[in-house]
Amino acid sequence: MILVHACCAPCLSGIIDDIDTDFKVYFYNPNIQPLREYTRRLETLIKFSKERNFSLIIDKEYKLQEWLENAVKLNGKADNLRCMYCYADRMDRVARYAKENGYEAFTTSMLYSPFQKHEMIKEIGFRMEKKHGIRFLYRDFRENYPRGDEIAKRYGMYRQGYCGCIFSEFDRYSFMLNRYEG
Ligand code: SF4
Repeated sequence: MILVHACCAPCLSGIIDDIDTDFKVYFYNPNIQPLREYTRRLETLIKFSKERNFSLIIDKEYKLQEWLENAVKLNGKADNLRCMYCYADRMDRVARYAKENGYEAFTTSMLYSPFQKHEMIKEIGFRMEKKHGIRFLYRDFRENYPRGDEIAKRYGMYRQGYCGCIFSEFDRYSFMLNRYEG
């Protein structure tokens, strides 16, 4: 049994058909802000789990203050340490849960997105493999992007406009500030 971390339903839709053994999906993403964006992405995933009939484990830990304090300290630092913290926090928790609950391996839908820092996710995944003594199922799922995109459209999924944290929301939409004079 494989434990598949899902960052969101659209990314998950691009990888689950390639996992050729039994799996359960694990949602743990305190980086998704604000809370209503988090619930919207989670509800999209819950709906998809019912449509595709897979088991979904929802880890509701949402440590907003701790997450932001850590991210603010690292924001703007070399090699994007904020994202490194964000990936490591999530994969550490997923790997630990997988080990403690008898799974044979873990992986993450973050390996699907061409918009994520793929090499960083891969490196952290193998680090968590060593730390927790459980196999990290690595594959470059980015090649599935056109197919996953088509599935997300077919299921009418909500598709977010930014990665997750308020910093990424700012990076995506700060151009709007230029609309105003004064
Ligand atoms: S941009 Fe994405 S990966 Fe990086 S810290 Fe924000 S939510 Fe996490």
